[in-house]
Amino acid sequence: MAAEQLPFHAETGKAALERLGSRPQGLTAAEAARRLAEYGPNRLPEVKPRGPVARFLTQFNNVLIYVLLGAATVTALMAHWVDTGVILAVVLANAVIGFIQEGKAEAAMAGIRSLLAPKAAVLRDGVRVTVQGADLVPGDIVLLEAGDKVPADLRVIEARGLAAQEAILTGESVPVDKDPNPVAADAPLGDRRSMLWSGTLVTQGTAKGLVVATGAQTEIGRIGGLLAGVEQLTTPLVAQMDHFARWLSFLILLIAALLLIYGYFVGHHDFGELFMAVIGVAVAAIPEGLPAVMTITLAIGVQAMARRNAIVRRLPAIEAIGSVSVICTDKTGTLTRNEMVVVAGETPEGAFAVTGDGYAPEGEITPPGDLGRLGRAAALCNDAHLHRRNGHWFVEGDPMEGALLAFAAKAGAAGPEERLDVVPFDSRHRYMAVLSADGVTRVKGAPERVLRMCRDIDYGCWHDRAEAMARQGLRVLAFAERVEGSDEIDAGTLDGGLTFLGLLGLIDPPRPEAIAAVAECRSAGIRVKMITGDHAGTAAAIAAQIGLARPDRVLTGADLDKLDDAELAMEVMDVDVFARTSPEHKLRLVTALQANGLSVAMTGDGVNDAPALKRADAGIAMGLKGSEAAKEAADLVLADDNFASIAAAVREGRTVYDNLKKVISWTLPTNAGESIVIVFAILAGLLLPLSPVMILWVNMITAITLGLALAFEPTEAGTMQRPPRARTAPILSGELVWHVVLVAGLFIAGILAMFNYAQDRGYSLALSQTIAMNTLVVLKTFHLFFIRNIHGTSLTWGAVKGTKVVWIVVIAVTAAQFAITYVPALQVILGTEAVPFWDGILIVAVGAVFFALVEIEKQIRLGLRAGPGGVTKESA
Ligand code: ATP
Repeated sequence: MAAEQLPFHAETGKAALERLGSRPQGLTAAEAARRLAEYGPNRLPEVKPRGPVARFLTQFNNVLIYVLLGAATVTALMAHWVDTGVILAVVLANAVIGFIQEGKAEAAMAGIRSLLAPKAAVLRDGVRVTVQGADLVPGDIVLLEAGDKVPADLRVIEARGLAAQEAILTGESVPVDKDPNPVAADAPLGDRRSMLWSGTLVTQGTAKGLVVATGAQTEIGRIGGLLAGVEQLTTPLVAQMDHFARWLSFLILLIAALLLIYGYFVGHHDFGELFMAVIGVAVAAIPEGLPAVMTITLAIGVQAMARRNAIVRRLPAIEAIGSVSVICTDKTGTLTRNEMVVVAGETPEGAFAVTGDGYAPEGEITPPGDLGRLGRAAALCNDAHLHRRNGHWFVEGDPMEGALLAFAAKAGAAGPEERLDVVPFDSRHRYMAVLSADGVTRVKGAPERVLRMCRDIDYGCWHDRAEAMARQGLRVLAFAERVEGSDEIDAGTLDGGLTFLGLLGLIDPPRPEAIAAVAECRSAGIRVKMITGDHAGTAAAIAAQIGLARPDRVLTGADLDKLDDAELAMEVMDVDVFARTSPEHKLRLVTALQANGLSVAMTGDGVNDAPALKRADAGIAMGLKGSEAAKEAADLVLADDNFASIAAAVREGRTVYDNLKKVISWTLPTNAGESIVIVFAILAGLLLPLSPVMILWVNMITAITLGLALAFEPTEAGTMQRPPRARTAPILSGELVWHVVLVAGLFIAGILAMFNYAQDRGYSLALSQTIAMNTLVVLKTFHLFFIRNIHGTSLTWGAVKGTKVVWIVVIAVTAAQFAITYVPALQVILGTEAVPFWDGILIVAVGAVFFALVEIEKQIRLGLRAGPGGVTKESA
């Protein structure tokens, strides 16, 4: 054995294979399983999450808790032990609620992350299979193409035009060329061109690489990178409210301090009572629970989207997706099923039709002619494989190529041939060429492109034939070949030197659910635009089947190139179908749409789509056929590549935004109402309608129950019939401010009226306060039911029926109120007295009147907004 072993980058690929006991065909499945047990999963060690104790302790780090702890100290010094006990109970309850909420939110996000776990294409037993990235072991042979993320540290065995972007390791953002040649043993990391590093991105070319290190053994694992940045559960709106709540808290503390000074020196109140009342005001007014409930709302929204196959990568996107006004989508696989079948074709000998379903190599070709050369081209100029499992045929690789393999089998084209060279498909040149061991280069690609490469054909005639097939909605490919003199393809000489073989037409039926989703988007005021690399005729035919608004006008990539940015910004509003585009056009289209003030969602799958995805308001990557590069650039990933999932995400995005708004609309006026009542009483030197301990109680009990219910609200009816909200619309709109004023006013009126009524009847102060407290809770409950339907009426059966969560919390809160009102032991602590039956009925009646008033006010407002023609403000 050699005394010193060369590092992998310095030895030959062959030596590396031998050292790791592997072969170019890859490991056997059994050997891979054995190695997985030996080396462990290919995963970076996770950043240790904070322990539960640390998480619990951080709950005490907020303004409200400081105020309460301060208050507990003061009351303890004054030996008001009951008050101290109640305050400490509230502190504890708050911390426990925060702890549980945060845990739930974190678990939701962790669940989402696991959905995005990367996969890798490997050779096992000589067959290409897709495995979880975590299952890679040293010795595995990995196949990579442009857009892939390198799943482990690899020794490059084969490479074609390969380059990788290694910024996460080297800081260098310019891609580095890679090839299998060994480099000097002492070459620095950035110069080891024979290696691909885990976590970096393949920007171009294709490669076959040998796994030499996995998990923590990789370079990125050694520097402990990648996972360090754990995402915060926040969005612009939540951050904004967090900020707002913090400053509001300080303002409230200031007012409370002034109130204390005023009450003591001017109002001559007893300090102990006054102090507790002021604490009550602060607790009632500080919207501390607000950011926490908003976080829960987000977490629930993220989970709801995941259930609908839309995985949120960046949380702010959850707000953005709810506000989109135009969706730019790919065609293949998103609007269509991407289950292709060759149904027609034409060679210089004549046209033919093909029958058969799926990828099964069974079907008829009529009239049967000699399609051997066309069939061989379809089979050999191809990267896909067909497998048979349980009697069904599956494709590994591109479905279109799978369909070509099935066609080749039907045409009786002979089996595989060793490959000498290849020009990979690229959406910019739209063709692919393969040189096989029989010395023939076979080319397939977009007809316009391939026909131009052929000699001795009538270009115009064949071009028309291809157009005619495309107009039927078929995807058309042209095939050609030439005998090669060497064992390399000189791509520069392909043009003009090929022999034309024929055309094939593939159907790719639209997804029925995509048709429904497009209609839903249109009713929601969202324009849907198709941006495809496919032929204009095919694109227009599919656009009509899918139900786009204007399927007839098509702009091609060539047309786009002729327009300057200003012209494009005008045109883009009138056109819904863009064909033969390259990824660069997507970026221009996003920019042009945004220039019109639209909020744009854009889908993408390839490595070159990344800039457009980043630029879009909501970048959406395909989870199945999308490259890792596109996923990294995207805000959302579609688990099923389906357009219907985008519409579902919009719906959920709107729901989350609505719910955030509902949480705010419920909290602010409630807090304002109950605190102003006390402030008013102190300033006016009146009896306190609610005792401070009662205020602490009400805030604690409603925070765990009513306050949380809105986070679980389902989508309101009509959510997808509303036009999109303006991105710039502020959350603290005039309407919300008015709502705060109105509801706070009604709360004050209701509480004071009931308190005074009780006093007039000669009830004791304790009973009067008990009645006022129960009135407050009933008002909060009715307000909750009102808020549930801010866009429609609350007076439908569905609205009254509510959700399970709403009724659970209402029952819980009612039970708690009955307990503290009527259970003697609790009456002692909270200073309550049993409320007579008819007064109880009166309290509920006050709630009902409140509900009627705000509901009528809302209907008037909605009616005014809709205007005489029923036109809404936004769409006008
Ligand atoms: P969409 O944007 O709707 O998803 P697409 O992504 O399939 O469409 P591209 O992949 O850019 O569009 O393909 C554009 C054209 O290139 C196709 O219409 C076809 O003519 C040709 N083409 C696509 N894939 C291949 C391939 N593997 N080999 C040769 N030609 C191809």
